[in-house]
Amino acid sequence: MSLHLHELRKHYGATRAVDGVTLELDERETLALLGPSGCGKSTLLRLVAGLEAPDAGHLSLDGSDITQLPPQRRRFGMVFQDYALFPHLDVGQNVAFGLVELRWERAAQRERVGELLELVGLAGLERRRVQQLSGGQQQRVALARALAPRPEVLLLDEPLSNLDQTLREALKDELSGLLSSLPVRAVYVTHDQSEAFTIARRVAVMKSGRLAQVGTREEVLEHPRTGWLAHFLGHRNVFEAADLARVPGAPQRGPALLRSDLTRVLPAADGGGGTDAVVRGVARDGLRWKLRLALPDWGIELAWEGYDRELPGAPTEGQQLRLHVPAEAWQELDGA
Ligand code: ADP
Repeated sequence: MSLHLHELRKHYGATRAVDGVTLELDERETLALLGPSGCGKSTLLRLVAGLEAPDAGHLSLDGSDITQLPPQRRRFGMVFQDYALFPHLDVGQNVAFGLVELRWERAAQRERVGELLELVGLAGLERRRVQQLSGGQQQRVALARALAPRPEVLLLDEPLSNLDQTLREALKDELSGLLSSLPVRAVYVTHDQSEAFTIARRVAVMKSGRLAQVGTREEVLEHPRTGWLAHFLGHRNVFEAADLARVPGAPQRGPALLRSDLTRVLPAADGGGGTDAVVRGVARDGLRWKLRLALPDWGIELAWEGYDRELPGAPTEGQQLRLHVPAEAWQELDGA
């Protein structure tokens, strides 16, 4: 039982917004679509919702082709960045909206609305006007409204982007718990990797209308396949083969990633192996240190980040250290 996207394409003039995407979503799975602005995430979501028709490819749900099915007959729930609540309806009426459309009995509607408001932490607010709610509360109403008719698939387009940082962090964790506990498939679009990896077990990274890599945190974040992905996911140390000629243990055939999070900084006098490192730049980012370390014997420089306890003392420019680089810190990349 699955939602299957097969070779979906959507072009706007010369722009290949979605350029051949094949993906499968299992029952109950939440998948995140992650990528920079303009990579085609929203277009792909609109194709799945049926709000846009693909130029090519098809979509099937549990074995039936739904490519031509109009959006209202897909029974997909949607949650948007701007909530898109009905301002003239109160909270309860907003949540009941899909149930009214489906002609649920009044009593069943009331019961389901109560259940959903309980689920999203807004119990008792049925009669509240939506304008009287905070952004976070409005987004909870939008989520309850989308979930009420028991959709086949829940589609979320940057649902936390309009909220401030603190609320976003809190709702992110809540949503993650909620989505994994509910029997619903979900596709979650975001440009924020922390959101993607918190909310979904599997993440599909998009680049220019195509899937760059699909997998779990371990497969994607810890083992990005290309230099572009490594950079996009925040890895700072990607080297060309030519830069690594003097580096023992580094891959020699193509570009490579040095996972600085797997290295260890030691005092200069440390006898336990490693290579000489000289501090070339020191910056503080919250509780973390950000260093540039020159490795004279290897002829490269790398960006290193860590907390106080990971350093022999407060770092200073010009300071001599040792860097221990275990073999697994080097990862081969397929290409740029
Ligand atoms: P994302 O959601 O990743 O930011 P979008 O799916 O919104 O990306 O857009 C992908 C590309 O398609 C962009 O270059 C965008 O300008 C273009 N695009 C999206 N929608 C339309 C449209 N309705 N008409 C023309 N171009 C569009």
